[in-house]
Amino acid sequence: MIELMKLPYSYEALEPVIGRETVETHHAKHHQTYVDNLNKAIEGTEFAEMSIEEIIKNINNAPEDKKNAIRNNGGGVYNHNLYWEELTPGGASEPTGALKEAIDKAFGSFEKFKEEFENAGKTRFGSGWAWLVKDGDEVKVMSTANQDCPLTDGLIPLLGNDVWEHAYYLDYKNARAKYLSEFWKIVNWDKVAERF
Ligand code: MN
Repeated sequence: MIELMKLPYSYEALEPVIGRETVETHHAKHHQTYVDNLNKAIEGTEFAEMSIEEIIKNINNAPEDKKNAIRNNGGGVYNHNLYWEELTPGGASEPTGALKEAIDKAFGSFEKFKEEFENAGKTRFGSGWAWLVKDGDEVKVMSTANQDCPLTDGLIPLLGNDVWEHAYYLDYKNARAKYLSEFWKIVNWDKVAERF
């Protein structure tokens, strides 16, 4: 039985970058629905005994008739857990230490990295996620469709931004690019460094 994580801050804590109504709907409705539908999908299967992380790593071994539901809703649960945890009011402005070194090595600079990450979000057609992932000793930027999670393919997700319209439409309407550029103001780089 998977449970909805509690937010580590209040619904209005991420304002003005993400408004109270968006955070509340996103967490209490969207995220909750992924949890509920995942629990229905795993009921009576070996996945019912797994942690959410184990579920994501084992999606490809899921029973065929449940695989899509477990992929979509399991990813929905896990990706949103990562998202809420990596955000904070007044987060640190830049990565430090080994993570900073890996970003500089892969992209040339933090500015270049941000450009590439925003571009991954802008160019994801339809719904999905932009990611900074760890691949072996290196970091790279990628995007996934729907609720697919890099962890299923053996990559470690470090930072993910939700580019489904439900994540930004109330605050930014169709301006996904603006949401992507404002996002940096609430990233908790200490949490991202922990994942690294
Ligand atoms: Mn979402």
